[in-house]
Amino acid sequence: MTDFCGTGGLKLSEPLIWERHRQGRSAFSMPAADVPAAPLPGDLTGGRPDIPDVSEIDLVRHYTRMAAWNMAIDLNMYPLGSCTMKYNPKTHERQAALPGFQSAHPMVPDSLNQGALTLMHRLARYLGEITGLPAVSLAPAAGAHGELTGMLIIHAHHQRLGRQRTKIIIPDTAHGTNPASAALCGYKPVPLASSADGVISAADVAALMDEDTAGIMITNPNTIGLFEADIREITRIVHDCGGLVYGDGANLNAVMGIVDVGRIGIDMLHINLHKTFATPHGGGGPGAGPVCVTEALAPLLPVPRIVETGEHLRLDWDVPESIGQVGSFYGHFGILVRAYSYIRTLGAAGLERVSRMAVLNANYVRQRLKSDFHLAYDRTCMHECVFSDKRQAVHKVSTLDIAKRLMDYGFHPPTIYFPLIVHGALMIEPTETESMEELDRFIDAMRTIAREAIEDPDLVRNAPHRTRIRRLDEVAAARKPCLKG
Ligand SMILES: *Cc1c(COP(=O)(O)O)cnc(C)c1O
Repeated sequence: MTDFCGTGGLKLSEPLIWERHRQGRSAFSMPAADVPAAPLPGDLTGGRPDIPDVSEIDLVRHYTRMAAWNMAIDLNMYPLGSCTMKYNPKTHERQAALPGFQSAHPMVPDSLNQGALTLMHRLARYLGEITGLPAVSLAPAAGAHGELTGMLIIHAHHQRLGRQRTKIIIPDTAHGTNPASAALCGYKPVPLASSADGVISAADVAALMDEDTAGIMITNPNTIGLFEADIREITRIVHDCGGLVYGDGANLNAVMGIVDVGRIGIDMLHINLHKTFATPHGGGGPGAGPVCVTEALAPLLPVPRIVETGEHLRLDWDVPESIGQVGSFYGHFGILVRAYSYIRTLGAAGLERVSRMAVLNANYVRQRLKSDFHLAYDRTCMHECVFSDKRQAVHKVSTLDIAKRLMDYGFHPPTIYFPLIVHGALMIEPTETESMEELDRFIDAMRTIAREAIEDPDLVRNAPHRTRIRRLDEVAAARKPCLKG
């Protein structure tokens, strides 16, 4: 096995915390109470909390060990396609931890919250400038939540025109959240097949678009990593039929400062701050999925809105045409601080350079791996490239085997089996933050695996060999999770 960097081969062992339970142990010490105990009624507290009794050191070791098993961007390259696992600079953590931000209470009056409101107001303006869609809500808590907000806006748009439509067109390369968001809003998702070159064609959109179609959801660049070349024509066709164009902005990392989303005819777009704007993600959040819209749709955005009155900013909850509130208070503030810090650190030129580097890195990986792995669409890509296991399948080595074997070499696997239109997809997004040396190490590992698949396929089929746990029964883990000892 070639040398690798990072955490492959960890062999620590750790039982469930419940197995450390010893009646009466405690992780804190408090002075004895000098007043009589006055227990709350059981129906208020739900009785004694069902947690193990452990000492402080047991507690700290348990979670520190488990934290050390985490694959994290701070440990290794994490080329998970569509997820933009870029490095999250530590300065943003410092800004988010500033006492005034960290302790800002969402219920303090606006007059005492001018700093937080100013940050949010400016962030919204920057996002409006970056996308070319000037009206912005920072409220949605994630990309999928932004999509739902967008669907509600489409619904409200048709309603104010005194009509209702039932369908939304969604390309077959879309993220699963797209049809889910449309369906949650009561729309019927209508699948649109990509053409042979991996993009959607204007003619196919024209054939599907009708007076009962509320709009289309487009991811651009799409999840194959290709720019939708017909985009302007497609948005024209949809608009001519009275529909709106929703942009899934999860792949904004490829086009910042390069593409004016508003000018190509997108009416609204969500941004995944936790992807493009380097706020930590993975493991379930928190994230933030601001939605940017055209001036025409601005009145429909969620409340609250930040408005300027004289020198001061305040939250406006009273906007008659608004779709209403989409979450508690106003968004995930800590994430907004990090994104603001990221934008201020890089500036306009820096953001554009981010996208150019992200695209360059993906094309470098694509070019250097295509002799060993089948490239689903052999064209210049944007920020990610999609291979398949077609060549390895001849030796009965699958995408899953390749992904597991990468873990032996200390890399997080790429996204696998997505997008669905590529059989056995391996979707690699290196991001701009990896150096050429790191990309070369990843490429070497992939090429080694390609060689192993020919010379010793069992080695790959039985991978991983150097992780604490080998192959999990993923179905059982999802269906019957054991969360308790
Ligand atoms: C990540 C992603 C989403 C969903 O975003 P979340 O923030 O995870 O809810 C939607 N579409 C695409 C293309 C994505 O990559």
